[in-house]
Amino acid sequence: MNLILFGPPAAGKGTQAKRLVETRKMVQLSTGDMLRAAIASGSELGQRVAGVMERGELVTDEIVIELIEERLPEAEASGGAIFDGFPRTLAQAEALDIMLKHRGSGIDLVVRLKVDDTALMSRVAGRFAESGRPDDNPESFKVRLDAYNTQTAPLLPYYEDQKKLVEVDGMGSIDTVAAAIDKALDKTRG
Ligand code: AMP
Repeated sequence: MNLILFGPPAAGKGTQAKRLVETRKMVQLSTGDMLRAAIASGSELGQRVAGVMERGELVTDEIVIELIEERLPEAEASGGAIFDGFPRTLAQAEALDIMLKHRGSGIDLVVRLKVDDTALMSRVAGRFAESGRPDDNPESFKVRLDAYNTQTAPLLPYYEDQKKLVEVDGMGSIDTVAAAIDKALDKTRG
C-alpha cells in the first residue's frame, strides 16, 4: 500500500502518518523530516537547504526526489509507504510515479486533508510557540501556504484524473480524521 497524505502545511499529515506507522506498520516518508535531519547533522545538504527552508520556500525537486528514492526499499520491506509532504510539485509527482512503476508498484491512494486557512494559521501559531520551529514564524508560514496554493494544490487534478483522490475533513479531532483515513484505506484494499 502506497499512500500520499496530501494537504497544506499544518493540516495534520505528520500526526496521521505517525499513527499509521503504529497501526499498519507502514513507513513514514516525510521529506521535511529528512531535510530537518540533514540540517541537524550539519551535512553539506543540510547547509545547502537551511536558508531556503527557513524562508518557507521549496527546495529543488532533485533533492527531495533523491531523498525519497533512497528510502523506497525500506517502505517496500514493510507495510508500504506514507508519503508525507511529498510530492509538492508536478515534477515530483511524475518522478514518483516513474520510480514506483520501475519497482512494480504505484500510488494506491491519495488522501487530501482539508483544513481552512484560518484554522491552519492558529494551529501553526500554537506550534511555533511550543516548538519554535523556525519556518513556523508568521512570515515563513505565509510563504509555505502560498507555495502550497500555487505549486502543490494544482496536483489535485492529476490524482483526481487517476481516480486515486479521497477528500477527508481535516478540521475534526485527530481520532475522527484517523477513522476517515482508515475507512479510505480499507476500501482501497478491497
Ligand atoms: P514540511 O515539514 O513537510 O512542512 O516541510 C518543511 C519544509 O521543507 C518546506 O517548507 C520546504 O522548504 C521543504 N520541503 C519538504 N518537502 C519538500 C518537497 N517535497 N519539495 C520541496 N521542498 C520540500
